[in-house]
Amino acid sequence: MKHLFLFSICILMATMTFAQVQQTNSPAPQTAAQPQQRQQQVSPESSEWYYPVPPKIQPGVGTKPPSDAIILFDGTDLSKWVSRNGDAAKWIVQNGELVIEPGTGSINTKEYFGDCQLHIEFKSPAPEQNTGQNRGNSGIMLQSKYEIQVLDCENNPTYVNGMVGSVYKQSAPLANAYTKNGEWQVYDIFWKAPRFGTNDELESPAIVTVVLNGVVVQNNYVLKGNTPYIGFPKYAAHGRMPLSLQDHGTKTSFRNIWIRNL
Ligand code: MG
Repeated sequence: MKHLFLFSICILMATMTFAQVQQTNSPAPQTAAQPQQRQQQVSPESSEWYYPVPPKIQPGVGTKPPSDAIILFDGTDLSKWVSRNGDAAKWIVQNGELVIEPGTGSINTKEYFGDCQLHIEFKSPAPEQNTGQNRGNSGIMLQSKYEIQVLDCENNPTYVNGMVGSVYKQSAPLANAYTKNGEWQVYDIFWKAPRFGTNDELESPAIVTVVLNGVVVQNNYVLKGNTPYIGFPKYAAHGRMPLSLQDHGTKTSFRNIWIRNL
C-alpha cells in the first residue's frame, strides 16, 4: 500500500513537470485584450500638442507682405539702407522703384539677419545692349556674403553657375525661369544661415531654397561657403549680418522688398 502511494506521487510530479515544460516552450497565447491595451497606451491624443501656439498673422495677397514681415523697401525711401561703406545709400528712388546708381557701391540693410524668408522683385534695364555678365547684373547678398545672382537671362548665354537663379559660382539654377527683358522678376528666398561653434569651426553649412517667378530654381542647396569673385567658396565664422544688394554697374531696379525672420 505504501509503495502504491509513493508511486502515485511520482506519477503526479512527473505529469506536473511535463506540463510546465510544455507551457514554457509554447508561444504566449494571443488574447483579444492585447491590441486593446496597445490602443490605450498610444491614443490619437498621444501624438498631439497644443502649446506653444503659433502667432496669428495676416498673410499677404499675391506678392504683398504678410503682417509680420519687415518692410525693407515699399517704394518710398531708403530709410532701411546704408551704403556698404557706412555712408547714406546713394541709389535712386523713382516711380516707386529702387534703381541702382552705378558706381555708388552696394547697399546694406541697417538691420542684421540670420535665418529668413526674403521676397524681392527686380527688373533689368531695357532695352539692354550688353551681353553675358554685363547685362543687368546685380546680386542679392544673403548675410552680405552669399550671392543669389541677378542677371538678365533672356537669350543671354553665360556660364551656368552665373545665370539668374544661381548661387553665384556654386550652383546653376534647376531651370531658367526668367521671363523678358524689362519685365519684373519675382524672387522668394528661404535661407538657413550657417552655424559656427565656439572655436569658429563650421557646425552646419548654409542651406538655400530659391523660387524665381514661382519656380523652384534652388532646392535646399547646401552652400560650400561664401561668394568670392575669384577663387573658391569658403566659410569664415560670423553671426547675423545685413542683407546686401550688389552694385555691378547696371541700372537694375528693385521693388517690394520684405523679409521675415525665421
Ligand atoms: Mg551679380
